[in-house]
Amino acid sequence: MRISVLGVGFDNLTLEEAVERGMELLHSPGAHYVVTPNPEIVEICRENLAAREAVNQADLVLADGIGVVKGAAMLGTPLKGRVPGIEFAAGLMERMAAEGLSLYLLGAKPGVAEAAGERLAAQYPGLKIAGTHDGYFQEDGPVTEAIRQSGADCVFVCLGAPKQELWMRKQGGATGARLLCGLGGSLDVFAGVVERAPRFWSDHGLEWFYRLCRDPRRAGRMMKLPLFLIHVKKEKRRR
Ligand code: UDP
Repeated sequence: MRISVLGVGFDNLTLEEAVERGMELLHSPGAHYVVTPNPEIVEICRENLAAREAVNQADLVLADGIGVVKGAAMLGTPLKGRVPGIEFAAGLMERMAAEGLSLYLLGAKPGVAEAAGERLAAQYPGLKIAGTHDGYFQEDGPVTEAIRQSGADCVFVCLGAPKQELWMRKQGGATGARLLCGLGGSLDVFAGVVERAPRFWSDHGLEWFYRLCRDPRRAGRMMKLPLFLIHVKKEKRRR
């Protein structure tokens, strides 16, 4: 059973368990998708019904971010821990490389997915990069068709939230891939365009603060974080 945090149901898994489950989905017939909501996405889901449905209907819902883990604990239904989307992706690529599976990279600004593809192919020998496409396209059809033609087993969909969740729900089946993963800004990190917070910050649950310092334009978005905690407190009182 999933653990609900303000209407979003999270799978209670460790990182290793999540990767294992991802691989099972990758080997099951049909299209499956994974979402990695953080508090900001949970807040989006509170206001946007279509986004909430797309998130809750995912085959795997992973708690990306310490805020979700704290929220679940405050509500008396603790999660095993956080499963950062980018670490889930790394675990998955390691396993895919060992099996010679193929990956399509969709999202980010023009050139970023290609650069990420080159770096990932070098980092994970055996992993096939089936193709890449930037995330600023107007029509879904040609992109979906390009993925289908590539024969990719898995697609990393990095279009930001809630665009990527809605896209995976609507287009997932047509891509022919068995697994799609919504991973936000991960391609920027894989390409080396954006740096991930050093271990110290993430170990202390402060990755969000590091990102804010590096990119103060995120301040508006980050206001959703205190709002999330206020809503969790209200929900706790209500329960
Ligand atoms: N993006 C995109 N298409 C869009 C809007 C955003 O490909 O129409 C990309 C953007 O370039 C970035 C990613 O989606 O690479 C979102 O990154 P963000 O840092 O917002 O995601 P987070 O990791 O915080 O969820």
